[in-house]
Amino acid sequence: MKKLLSSVAVATLLLMQAQPTLAQADAKRSVTEIAPDVYRLQNNFHYSMVVITGEGAVVTDPINADAAAWIKTEVAKLTDKPVTHLIYSHSHGDHASGGAVLADNATVITQTNAPDQIDGVKPTLRFDESHEFVHGDKTFELTWLGPGHGEDLIAVVVRPANVAFITDAASPKRLPWRNMGGANIDNWTNQIRKIESLDFDIFAPAHGNVGVKADATDARVYMEQLKAEVLEGLTAGKSVDDLKKEVTMNDYKDWGNYENWLGLNIEGMASFLMFSGQVPAK
Ligand SMILES: [Zn+2]
Repeated sequence: MKKLLSSVAVATLLLMQAQPTLAQADAKRSVTEIAPDVYRLQNNFHYSMVVITGEGAVVTDPINADAAAWIKTEVAKLTDKPVTHLIYSHSHGDHASGGAVLADNATVITQTNAPDQIDGVKPTLRFDESHEFVHGDKTFELTWLGPGHGEDLIAVVVRPANVAFITDAASPKRLPWRNMGGANIDNWTNQIRKIESLDFDIFAPAHGNVGVKADATDARVYMEQLKAEVLEGLTAGKSVDDLKKEVTMNDYKDWGNYENWLGLNIEGMASFLMFSGQVPAK
């Protein structure tokens, strides 16, 4: 059949291939091998992880429908085997949408607290505290981080590479997201402690740059220092606006989103401390 294609048809096909869809053209995408067979796939400000084993591909968050379709194409370049496991880090829509294209015939794994369906995908395996499985030449250790940022957030550690895929609770040298979305920040900090208790070397976050395990400790210390300074100010009767001028967190000036999010971090911490009754009455 191929040789029957006219040169016009070939030219048209090439033209179609050369013109990505709007969403593809808009998205900043990259594939980086961060350890043998362990890949980080970037879709704008979100990252997912793909691990190739002797038996197939294990994929974490689909991100969204366009990204998931792209992830599937990238997996096909890395292995001729199928996606065998889709692991949701948690159910928040910006990481967990559009999984259907990756879920075909795959084991779909979530923590127990995740909803019955995540954007139309029904998880087939749920776990409470932890779940471990061996797949080909790799081992996957999944650990619930407890409540805090979401109720169903897990860490995924891959061996033998000792890579941890960590979403939202902490990112290497990067401020937590905006005002932290009304979360219980003490619980959130405990999620980071849980990450620190895991055994891994490479910290592969869903946002920002790759780091090392010590970056989790730095992220927890940031939370503790922010809490101490905001609590001290509120206890002294200062307003949130005052605190946004006075709490500079100077040690973190080179962290990602320092300029954009410090003020919002202070607002989020202040409202958490006030609403959780931690500010002593005058
Ligand atoms: Zn989230």
